[in-house]
Amino acid sequence: MNVEILAKDMMTPSVINTSPDAILMDVIQQMIDHRYSCIIVVDNQRPIGIITERDIVRLMAQYMTNKPQCPVRVEDVMSVPVATITEETNLFEALVISTAQKIRHLPVVNETGQLLGLVTQSDLAKVHFQIFEKQREIIEHSVIERTQELQKANEQLKSLSMLDSLTALGNRRAMEVDLEHTHSQAMRYNRSYSVALFDIDFFKLFNDSYGHKAGDNALRTVSGHLLSSIRKCDRLYRYGGEEILLLMPETSLYGALILADRILASFAGLNIPHEKSPFGFLTMSCGVACQVEENGYDCWESLVDLADRGLYASKNNGRNQVTIIPPEDANDDSVPRLHGNQP
Ligand code: GH3
Ligand code: MG
Ligand code: MG
Repeated sequence: MNVEILAKDMMTPSVINTSPDAILMDVIQQMIDHRYSCIIVVDNQRPIGIITERDIVRLMAQYMTNKPQCPVRVEDVMSVPVATITEETNLFEALVISTAQKIRHLPVVNETGQLLGLVTQSDLAKVHFQIFEKQREIIEHSVIERTQELQKANEQLKSLSMLDSLTALGNRRAMEVDLEHTHSQAMRYNRSYSVALFDIDFFKLFNDSYGHKAGDNALRTVSGHLLSSIRKCDRLYRYGGEEILLLMPETSLYGALILADRILASFAGLNIPHEKSPFGFLTMSCGVACQVEENGYDCWESLVDLADRGLYASKNNGRNQVTIIPPEDANDDSVPRLHGNQP
């Protein structure tokens, strides 16, 4: 169930904006005078960038270390592209986007991309907190007829959960929101991103040998290993049972392949005993696919399907390896190119 608290209910309307050729010092002064944490840069009322306190700090650090010429215009400093949401984006979706991309300001746009308002991380936290408060209030005044209300508040909180309880990775719902947003951004700004689908090899046999609890622990080890192997901007989600999806923004197919290959090799190197596997230790297989400007897929589902095809090929080819399906072969059902650690 989605909590139908929408961006239009949370946003501050008519936010201050500026043009890309505005004088940077004027904009900084405006931020100081009015205590704005960001100013949105628009062209024809469409957000094309954003200047946040973070950008100003970065600029200061650069200036203090290199003493370059201080940039004059807003466009020299603004962060691009800017992630936007619509009035109908709900609280859960906004939470996922701001968490996944580590952004604190989400401009709200209409269907033609024009700026309507701003939702900040503190707006999201405020609404989240209000639900907690409501729950607390109900618990404190607990009477029979309030049980239903409490149940509703609990459901609301549960529906805002972005994490998988076993692995502490992002859950499937959060993954879908992140992929949807990442994909539409990639399409709009001609950016690339890659996905890698990991699956533990012979995991049923692992559970059979060592028990379900040991299986759960192995899943936590896999998740921890993946988390420690990726960059800050990459995101991990539990895709299904023992399958994990890695989302890599701004990453080429080659870059994604190198990373996935390194992850499989270092994971195998952990040497977690698996007596029923032909390898003798726990391994993973992987499929990788990439969204690029020239061969863009219409939707993220197509890209994940392609990674799944790669994963399937890795399994068929002996496991403990990565398979990529280059974009030019995406519509070709012939055997994809293979890469990785042969048994
Ligand atoms: P393959 O190498 O082809 O992937 O073989 P597999 O045995 O890993 O694949 P299969 O799909 O046959 O079995 C998946 C197993 O993963 C079965 C299921 O019990 C186990 N599994 C899925 N989720 C969990 C979980 O949360 N905890 C534990 N312990 N096991 C899980
Ligand atoms: Mg498996
Ligand atoms: Mg599986």
